[in-house]
Amino acid sequence: MSATNGGSALSLRGVGKRYGRIRALDGLDLEVPAGSVFGLVGPNGAGKTTTFAIACGYLRADTGTVSLLGAGPFDAEQHRGRITALPQDAALGRDLTVAETLTYLGRLQGVPSREIRAEVRRILQLVDLTDRAGDRTRTLSHGMLRRVGIGQAFLGDPELVLLDEPTNGLDPRQAHSIREFIAAQRGTRTIIVSSHNLHEIETVCDHVALIDRGRVVMAGPVSAVTGRNDEVRITLGAGPVPLTEIRAALPDDQVTWDENTRLIKISFLGRPGREAEDVTSAALRVVLGAGARISTVTRGESLESKYLEMPSTPPPLRR
Ligand code: ATP
Repeated sequence: MSATNGGSALSLRGVGKRYGRIRALDGLDLEVPAGSVFGLVGPNGAGKTTTFAIACGYLRADTGTVSLLGAGPFDAEQHRGRITALPQDAALGRDLTVAETLTYLGRLQGVPSREIRAEVRRILQLVDLTDRAGDRTRTLSHGMLRRVGIGQAFLGDPELVLLDEPTNGLDPRQAHSIREFIAAQRGTRTIIVSSHNLHEIETVCDHVALIDRGRVVMAGPVSAVTGRNDEVRITLGAGPVPLTEIRAALPDDQVTWDENTRLIKISFLGRPGREAEDVTSAALRVVLGAGARISTVTRGESLESKYLEMPSTPPPLRR
């Protein structure tokens, strides 16, 4: 990783973009920390693909400022070889073989000719397509083509990689191995992943932004957005509810009870040094001691629950 803007690999401030009368981005602010694996989440039409297209320089923002790797909006001279992308509908030359496709894209990406063969071999292994290297891309399945698309985004040594729904259409084993690979890149380069699979975002990414109607409505470390480090949730089965005892054992934490869902929420937000493990252990000792029955214990809220709390998207804004 080299140049960054105050620690940001990508910085968008007040970015607006219209397609005719449709306002796709409406003052979008986004700071992607360098070295992070950053998830972009939002309903259909929220503006994720448009955000990617502006970041990659496929589209120009109407308003606002864009800074890529601390060096303004996309500029071929500044950014060539440093930024790569897997677009949503990546089109690959259908008459080339898989190895030829990767060689061609690798050369465009600036991989030196003396290194290209080894680099293509590395990528073929990465996306598990070594045995299809000599096949024309038109003979590949949808998922295999997707893997070629993912592979080409890691050719060379890019500082910033944008992946639009990378595991869409992959079988579970391939999706799992791609997720593991992406997560392992943390700290070596910045990766921005757009996905509708919230479990994927929660497990792979360290930061996340929720986008709705062309704006960021929530952003931050995944642990902060989900409350993983400041809330413990215990759901009880039928039987005793030892609320008074839990409150007595955890006098400085905030304990709430929801009768309908039989959920005890213990919040320790704003108490530095307080650890979820200690809270969970203390609460469970009391719960078990009182003979209560435990259905589930979780830390914070899933990203899916956070997402579902967002108001549902009305039709696109036409102004
Ligand atoms: P999805 O999750 O469905 O892929 P998205 O979050 O990627 O959606 P965008 O593709 O960025 O959303 O679209 C944002 C808005 O801009 C939508 O209302 C969409 O209809 C509109 N839009 C996108 N591309 C165009 C285009 N080329 N011409 C006109 N409108 C467009």
